[in-house]
Order: sequence, then C-alpha cells, then structure tokens
Amino acid sequence: MSTIGDGTRAVRAGLPEPQQYEPTLPGPVFAAHFHLSGEPVGPYTYGRETNPTWTHLEKAIGELEAPGEEVVTTVFASGMAAISAVLFSQTRAGDIVVLPNDGYQALPLVREQLEAYGVEVRTAPTGGDAQLAALEGAKLLWIETPSNPGLDVCDVRKLVEAAHAGGTLVAVDNTLATPIGQRPLDLGADFAVASDTKGMTGHGDILLGHVTCRDADLAAGVRRWRKVVGAIPGPMEAWLAHRSLATLQLRIERQCATALTLAEALTKRSEVTGLRYPGLPSDPSYPVAVRQMRRFGSVVSFELADRETAERFLEALRLVDDATSFGGLRSTAERRGRWGGDAVSEGFVRFSVGAEDPEDLLADVAQALDAATR
Ligand code: PLP
Repeated sequence: MSTIGDGTRAVRAGLPEPQQYEPTLPGPVFAAHFHLSGEPVGPYTYGRETNPTWTHLEKAIGELEAPGEEVVTTVFASGMAAISAVLFSQTRAGDIVVLPNDGYQALPLVREQLEAYGVEVRTAPTGGDAQLAALEGAKLLWIETPSNPGLDVCDVRKLVEAAHAGGTLVAVDNTLATPIGQRPLDLGADFAVASDTKGMTGHGDILLGHVTCRDADLAAGVRRWRKVVGAIPGPMEAWLAHRSLATLQLRIERQCATALTLAEALTKRSEVTGLRYPGLPSDPSYPVAVRQMRRFGSVVSFELADRETAERFLEALRLVDDATSFGGLRSTAERRGRWGGDAVSEGFVRFSVGAEDPEDLLADVAQALDAATR
C-alpha cells in the first residue's frame, strides 16, 4: 500500500479483510477479559494487554506512519502516556536523555521525574539543530518538530545521523504535523510518537496517544510499559479514533491550506509581530521544513502588543473558540502565556486553524484584530 495516495490510505487504514455480513470497521469490543481455557496464550487474554479494537487502530496508524512496512504501533490513553512510555521504558538510572527546552509544556514535569529516577537530562532549543551539541553519551534524543508553541523546526535526518553515530536512540513527537505532514520513521527516527488528541483524531472529543517503531525489541519495551502502567485507551475512544482517521487527509489538507492563507494574511497586519508558520517561505523554519515535511501543520503563532490586546482579540473572535489544544476541525486560539509554562510574551497567541471556509475564518480574524486594536 506504499504507492497509493494519502487520502486512499487514510480511508482504508487498518480495515480488516471484508467478511460477508460484517461491518467495514468492526465496532468497539468492550471486554475486561476474553474466553480463555488452558494455556494463557493470546491474541486476546486480558483487557489491559490487548483488545481487538486497539489492534485495528494500531494497524491503521502503522500504515500511516510507515506505508508498506512492518512496524509495531502501541496506542495509549493520551499523548503523555505515549511519551512517558518511550522515555521511561528505554532509560535507566545513569542514562542521559536530551530533551528540547521549548517543547510541550509538560516536558519539564517529565524531566523532574526522570531526574528523580537518576536519569541525567540535558536540554537545548529545537531551532538551529541545537540539540546536536548535547548528544555526547546520550541514550535517547527527544525531538519535537515543529515545536509547540514556538513552531521552530529542526533537521531530523541530521540529528538522527549524529545520534545514531554515537549509539543514541531518537524519538520524534510528531503531534503537530501528523503522519500526513511528516513521517519520522522515514527520516530515520526509532520512535514516532504523538498525542492523537490533536490533529490525528481532530474532533476535540477524545484523548489518545501512540508510539510506532520498526524495531521489535524497542516496541516490546513500550508495550511492556503499557501493561505495567496500565495507561490504556478505552475501546470506545480507540474506535472513535479509527473512525476519525478516515478523514485525516481531508481534514489536514484543508486545515494546512487555510493555515498558510491565514499566515499570509497576517503578514499584512501591522499589529501582528513574531508571526510563525513553517510553511511560510519567509519563516526561519521554512528551509528545513520544506525538505522534511509534506504539509506544515494547522498551527499559526503570533504576538499582539500585550496581554490585554490578545485577550480582546480572543474575545472578539466569533468562529474561533478560546480553548487550548490544537489540530481540531473547529478553530481554537489561546493566549499561551496564561499557562505560565512556555517562554512566550504575554501577547503570544497560538492559533489552531480548523476546517471552516477560509474566507469566513479570515474575515473573523480581521474583524477581531480590528476590534482588539481599535
Ligand atoms: N505532545 C505535544 C506536542 C502536545 O502539544 C501535547 C498536548 O498538547 C502532548 C504531547 C500531550 O498530549 P495529551 O494531552 O494527549 O496527553
């Protein structure tokens, strides 16, 4: 299935072989345990270890992350569960981990926990491939590109090459791009990780995460971690996620196209500064992004004069919800500084572009900017 297009792949991803009188996508299997006599051998034994609804979803995500390849995907209850599974299953006391210092705002909490277990953590910014300088002796390099919320991009191939040369594993948080935008395993990473709460599922109604790897031993460690910690997705969430994947390409294509249009429009607004969108040719991320990304994501970031201006802007938007998260079909925006975890100015806005008609969205943003800066 590696020669077909993204849209075709998305609508068919993970579907079982057709069976007379069975649905195309089997419904969620709600089971804590399965009939099991004799030796406790799978595929389905106990609901914390495996579930047929996960199996379909994991197959689907694997097809999207690495078309035509044998990979192992493990789904989790959230993106953080997936991130923690990689970091805590692969590292031991005395190991060194390199994290970005400008990634998702829960990473400092992960850092504290790793350090509490005796793992040394180094950090460096995403932009300028600055993590390269921190790799010496590291067990694992954690990349988040584009970074959230600053939208810096690093050269994954270059970082992977340097990391692997020194025996360092590489994980990429691909939440912002989704596999429609970029495929970390193709770029050489050992783990493609994501919060599927965002663009992957796109409806803003479930939390989910996944880890995909080629190497069976690495995957076994991740799966073992899920079994030990029990951060498993509910069958209903897993099924809803699979249902949502059918529209992944449609949604992401539309959202990315509108995000670029919005970014271009914002370049013409004098009250907007610090505009970032990796797909904008004038953006510092563009030269690297254009080499490794196929689509540039649904998030646009920018700054308004101060906190009050940003709040007035968010208040004046009619088609855009003031809410956190991103990647959903309904546009959302927020003043990121309200959380206190990111190194951003008080007027910094993270804008997640949805699937509204572009002209409606652009008109709404224009009137809200007018209202906020009048
Ligand atoms: N990774 C990134 C880049 C994120 O933005 C987020 C959440 O915003 C996460 C991971 C965590 O995902 P979840 O909220 O599903 O645990």
